[in-house]
Amino acid sequence: MVDEITEHPKEHSLSLNLLDPLPSKIYTGIQLDIRVAVSCSQACDLASSLLRLSDDNILSETKLEKEDDKYVGKFLAKAPDVPGTYNWQLIFPQQEIGGTVHQEARLPLLLTVLPHELSLNVWDVPLPVVIRQDFSFTVGAKCMAECNLKGDLIEVYDEGGNKLATGLIGDTPWPATKAVYFARLVAKAPAAEGVYTWTAKFIPSPASPHKEVSRNFSFRSSRPGEHTVRVEVVDKFTGKPIRRPYVFIKPYRAYGDDNGVASLVVPKGDHQVFISAPGYQEKTIELKVDGDVQIKEELIIAPTF
Ligand SMILES: [Zn+2]
Ligand SMILES: [Zn+2]
Repeated sequence: MVDEITEHPKEHSLSLNLLDPLPSKIYTGIQLDIRVAVSCSQACDLASSLLRLSDDNILSETKLEKEDDKYVGKFLAKAPDVPGTYNWQLIFPQQEIGGTVHQEARLPLLLTVLPHELSLNVWDVPLPVVIRQDFSFTVGAKCMAECNLKGDLIEVYDEGGNKLATGLIGDTPWPATKAVYFARLVAKAPAAEGVYTWTAKFIPSPASPHKEVSRNFSFRSSRPGEHTVRVEVVDKFTGKPIRRPYVFIKPYRAYGDDNGVASLVVPKGDHQVFISAPGYQEKTIELKVDGDVQIKEELIIAPTF
C-alpha cells in the first residue's frame, strides 16, 4: 500500500478572502462585482490558476491575476432573478502548481436576494385644481435597487376606473434625488366642485423586474377665482408688517411678501380667512367677497411659556 503522505509530501493549503463585502442588500438581477484574493500557505505564484463561482452548478470561472502582492480572481455575476436565499461558493479546485498539488479551498457566499420594491408618489397637483381645466402634475417612482425607470408607463384613473392620463417616465432623476424617476402628466379636471381621489399606476415594461404599483392621491377642484383678496398682516402692538404671513381661504393658500402682504384670487361668496405667522397667534375672520377687497389684519405675539 502506498502511503498518501509520502506520495504527496508537500500539499499546500489555500485561503480565500473577499476583497469587498457583498452589498448589504442584493436585488434580483443586479450585477455583483465579486473580487476574491487567494493565497498559498507557502506563498506560491498563483497567477493563472483557476477559480470558480458555483451554486449547485458552475456559474463562472476565471484565472487569478497578480495585483500588487495578491492573487485576485474577479467575477461579474448576475444575482438570481427569483427572490430567495442562495448558497453560492467560491471554489479553488485542487490543481497542480509548480509541480505541487494545491488542495481544494472553498469560501461560502450566502446570498439573500430581495425583490425590487417600488414606491410611487404624486406631487405638484395645483391647489386647487380649477374645474373643467387641464392641469399638470408629477408622478414619481423609485425602486429600492435604484433602477433607471426610463420608458416605464404611468397611468392615472378616476374613481370609476376611467383612464384619464398616461405618460412615460423620463431619463433623468428628479433634481437632488438619486433614483426618483418621474413623468409629467396632464389631465382634465372634473366638471363639478369637490374632493376627488384618483389613482396613479406604475405599469412596468414586460422585461422589467418590477411589479405594477398603485397610489391614490386626492385633490380639490374648485370654481376659478374671480376677485382678488389682498391681506396686509401687521403686528398689533408695533403696527409693523409681519414678514411672509400665511393666508388660507379654503382651498386657496398663499404666503405674503416681506411687507406682510398676501394676495389670493377667490370666487364670490362668504369665506373664512385663516392667517398665521411664526411666533404669532393664529386668527380666523369671516369675509364676504363680492368684488376685489383689501383688508388689514393684526396678529398678537403668541405667549411663550
Ligand atoms: Zn503553494
Ligand atoms: Zn428595480
